[in-house]
Amino acid sequence: MTRTGDTYVRWRSGAPREGRAFPPLGPGHPAYRDVCPACDHFLGNGLPVQILAIGPTDDEARDRHRAGRWYSALALLFHAACLGSNIVDLADAEGAAG
Ligand SMILES: [Zn+2]
Repeated sequence: MTRTGDTYVRWRSGAPREGRAFPPLGPGHPAYRDVCPACDHFLGNGLPVQILAIGPTDDEARDRHRAGRWYSALALLFHAACLGSNIVDLADAEGAAG
């Protein structure tokens, strides 16, 4: 799996892990050739994508995580559909349905 760099989002334990969904990635996006961790297909294959918070990556973040406080959590990009998100409106708007 190729990864172009780690992504972080503001997150705390107990908050929804799913971040906002984005329209399909263009060829210029740094994650265009990364693969979706769920389905192993390229993130740039024309489907809307969505960020998922994973968790802490250092001791300070782990402490904040355990205390239920906000911190910068490691996050991964998935296809929104692979997270089970309802992205019908977004997909239709981008002409990427199906
Ligand atoms: Zn996927």
